[in-house]
Amino acid sequence: MSENISGKTDVNKLGEFGLIDHLTKEFTTNLPTTIKGIGDDAAVIDHGDHVSVVSTDMLVEGIHFDLMYTPLKHLGYKSIVVNISDIYAMNATPQQVTMSIAISSKYSVEALEELYAGVFLACKDYGVDLIGGDTTSSPKGMAISVTAIGRADAKEVVFRSGAKPGDILCVTGNLGAAYLGLQILEREKQIYLSNPGTQPDLENEEYIIGRQLKPMAQKAAVDYFKEKKFQPTAMIDVSDGLASDLFHICKQSGVGAFVEEGKVPLHPDTERMALKFNLDPITCALNGGEDYELLFTIDEKDLEMVKYMPGVFIIGEIIPAQDGIKLHTTGGNIHDLKAQGWNHFKDESNNPKDN
Ligand code: ADP
Ligand code: MG
Repeated sequence: MSENISGKTDVNKLGEFGLIDHLTKEFTTNLPTTIKGIGDDAAVIDHGDHVSVVSTDMLVEGIHFDLMYTPLKHLGYKSIVVNISDIYAMNATPQQVTMSIAISSKYSVEALEELYAGVFLACKDYGVDLIGGDTTSSPKGMAISVTAIGRADAKEVVFRSGAKPGDILCVTGNLGAAYLGLQILEREKQIYLSNPGTQPDLENEEYIIGRQLKPMAQKAAVDYFKEKKFQPTAMIDVSDGLASDLFHICKQSGVGAFVEEGKVPLHPDTERMALKFNLDPITCALNGGEDYELLFTIDEKDLEMVKYMPGVFIIGEIIPAQDGIKLHTTGGNIHDLKAQGWNHFKDESNNPKDN
C-alpha cells in the first residue's frame, strides 16, 4: 500500500468502502444470533420470533451539513430520516432511535432546542421513540450520530444480495433533486460570502431545496409491501446516487443490470435546474445522492403488484453478471454504467454524501 511522507498510508488511497473493508476484514461474526453483520443497509439480529435491524450514521458539521443554510430544526429532522431510511431499505419497520451529539460551546441551549424540535417531529412522523444517546463536547462544530433500530419477521427482511436475472428494477421516486438543492444552497452561500448584503435567490426552488434539507424516508413503500404481501428480492436506499447504489446491489447479488435512461424519474425542476448548472440531469440522478428513495428489484411474477404501486417507477431489469451494468440512453446507445462514486475523503466540503 502506498505511503505518504510520514510513512503512513493516506486514507484517500482506499476510499470509504475500501477503508471499511480494510478495517473490518478480520472480523467474522461468530454468534448464531448475528444474521447479517457489516455490508448491508443495516445489521440483522435474530430474536427467535422476529429480527431486529440496526443501522448507525454520523453527520459532521462542515462535511455533511453547513449551518449557514441548514436550519437546525431541519438538521434534527434529517438526522433521524437518513437513519430510518436504512431500516426501510431492509423492509423492516423502524421503532427506536438513539441520538448522540458532540457540541462546541458556540451552541446555545436555544439552538439545541431547535435541533431537537426537528428530531421530535421526525420521531412523530415516522412513529419511532427516542430512547437514549450521549452528549459530549467538541472542540469545534457539531457531530450527530443516530442509531436506528427496526423490527421485522425474519422472512420479510430484504438484503442487497437477492437480485437475480429477470428481476425488475424499480425506484420509489424521482432522483437527483437533493444534489441540485445542495448546489443551489452552496451557490447562494458563495454569493453571500462575497457580498454579505445580498439576499439569497431561492424563489421557485422550494421543491429542490426541500429535497436536500428535508428528505423523506420511504415508509409508504414498505407499508405497501406488507399490505400486499409481496417483497423485493433486493433493496437499498439511494443515498449515494443511483449508479453507486445499483452497483452495491449488483456486486452483492452477483448480477448485472440494464437501466433505461428515459425511465429514470426526474422532477421537472431537477431537469430545469440541472441545465442552469450546465449539468446533464441524468448525471445528477446517477451520481448525485441523498435522495433517500428505495431502489429495489422484484421477481417477474410480482410485476402486476409493482405496476399499481403508488409513485413507483420501473427503470430497468437485472441481467446476468457477465452482461455488465448498462445504461440504455435516450439517444439509443448502450453504455457501461459507471459508479463514479465520490471519494469521500477528498474535497469533503463538496461531497456530504457518505451516509
Ligand atoms: P449506508 O450508506 O447504507 O449507511 P455505509 O456505506 O455507511 O452504509 O456502510 C456500509 C456497511 O459498512 C454497513 O454495514 C455499515 O454498518 C458498515 N460500516 C461502516 N463504517 C464502519 C466502521 N467504521 N466499522 C464497522 N463497520 C462499518
Ligand atoms: Mg443505505
